[in-house]
Amino acid sequence: MTIDSGIQPWLFQVEPYEGESLSHFLGRFRRPNHLTPSGLGQLAGIGAVVARWERFHWNPPPSRQELEALAKVVRVSVEQLIAMLPPPGVGMQCSPIRLCSACYGETPCHRMEWQYKHIWKCNRHSLKLLAKCPVCSALFKAPAQWQDGMCRRCLTPFGQMQQQ
Ligand SMILES: [Zn+2]
Ligand SMILES: [Zn+2]
Repeated sequence: MTIDSGIQPWLFQVEPYEGESLSHFLGRFRRPNHLTPSGLGQLAGIGAVVARWERFHWNPPPSRQELEALAKVVRVSVEQLIAMLPPPGVGMQCSPIRLCSACYGETPCHRMEWQYKHIWKCNRHSLKLLAKCPVCSALFKAPAQWQDGMCRRCLTPFGQMQQQ
């Protein structure tokens, strides 16, 4: 079976936020297009890697070829996709998922830099990054699933979580 991985004019386009992580962007693209991670992987012709990428499991890291195929389907440039990944040489932590509530209040997106190994504070707000909900201690889901922008357990909005 061959699936055309060229232009898909019927798909909704989603504009990336500056600094957005790939996981968060892929979730925002999939939802209005009613695509599962494997459905998106199939459309792009890149197989089952999308679910792993959404959990930041990047071993091996996305190849240029895979990113080019994905870029055609989500209709952003390969450079925009690469900007959603950590820069070369920057270590990453795929868990726990971290959050600056003040950033999220300004722009509702998970920023890639929050998962960098050496980053513990938001360098815009000088706030310690949250690694769990400060109200109920629930861990944050993979950013691809941040549909509602709130804690999955106590429903506190991400943008209103207290930070010290
Ligand atoms: Zn911040
Ligand atoms: Zn909570």
